[in-house]
Amino acid sequence: MAKSSNSVSGQPERPTGGGKNNWNWHPEFPMPTSPIAKWPANPFAFIWQIIRGWLPVSDKLLIAGLSVVTWFYFSPVLERCREFEIDWIAQIYFRNLALLTIVAGGLHLYLYTFRRQGDSYRYDSRPFHQSSSRYTLNNQVYDNMFWSLTSGVTWWTAFEVVAMWAYANGLMPYLVWAGNPVWFVLMFAAISLFGNFHFYWIHRLIHWQPLFNSIHYLHHRNINVGPWSGMSMHPVEHILYLSSVLVHILVASHPIHVIFHLQMKILQGPTSHSGFEMLSLGSHKNDGFRMGDFFHQLHHRYFECNYGENTVPLDHWFGTYHDGTPEARERIRERMQKAGVTRS
Ligand SMILES: [Zn+2]
Ligand SMILES: [Zn+2]
Repeated sequence: MAKSSNSVSGQPERPTGGGKNNWNWHPEFPMPTSPIAKWPANPFAFIWQIIRGWLPVSDKLLIAGLSVVTWFYFSPVLERCREFEIDWIAQIYFRNLALLTIVAGGLHLYLYTFRRQGDSYRYDSRPFHQSSSRYTLNNQVYDNMFWSLTSGVTWWTAFEVVAMWAYANGLMPYLVWAGNPVWFVLMFAAISLFGNFHFYWIHRLIHWQPLFNSIHYLHHRNINVGPWSGMSMHPVEHILYLSSVLVHILVASHPIHVIFHLQMKILQGPTSHSGFEMLSLGSHKNDGFRMGDFFHQLHHRYFECNYGENTVPLDHWFGTYHDGTPEARERIRERMQKAGVTRS
């Protein structure tokens, strides 16, 4: 779900028509793999790619800033969190509810309700399903909002509440800024990479047919995705997806890192599933803020490929990488036939 993102400009649009086998817009094929995907690996290019994924501006950087603001201005002080009390738990819950509503709702209104950038940089121009029994409430957007705002916000809050309670009671190793400021900052990048690594493996797990049929099917009802699709998951998938935050039980961290970890997992859902490569602001249709994730868009169309994301190239190493070309599509189809998977 996560992706490299930064401000870009001047990319040509390649209208190729809509439809099941076409894209309204897509990046250049084949999509490049990570610098450490092939031998000999290029670790310097890998580090540069990570830096470019953060700077000069990216959704990860904005979320890191948001997590700092959240800790100082919108979180209960730790002394209040020693006991589970409804007041500070409600404060976290309603703050998280507001954050997801603002990010996913804001993107949906801008891109789909008011269509402020038309189909510019839109991957798939087909409309969302408005009347289909496939979805909860018979409507794709209402379905996606329902699962995001009920189960998604609840489990996000639950993980954060337990972490705050554990920090308040000295049950989690605590990292202070003054102790190691360099590691304190690098930890944000490490969390992002670990989140990618963790996501690949839990995602492969829930593509195991019994778990897919009972849990992951809910997220995959969305072939054509929008901002609300990102966190539209079965409650068990929310738990598995957010469980990467348990790493802070082992690795000394500050509560800001936990808040960032959870906000990154949740708030990158709407951007990576936005269905648009770029958010074009103002009148400059060809300039904008890169936010979409074509790599994951391919996963939603072809299912058995691109389980992770492109910075940590596990898909490449395990033969599940789809670079957008017809050859890759054929490879994935053969792999699925051999495995007896029939859902694409
Ligand atoms: Zn998805
Ligand atoms: Zn999947």
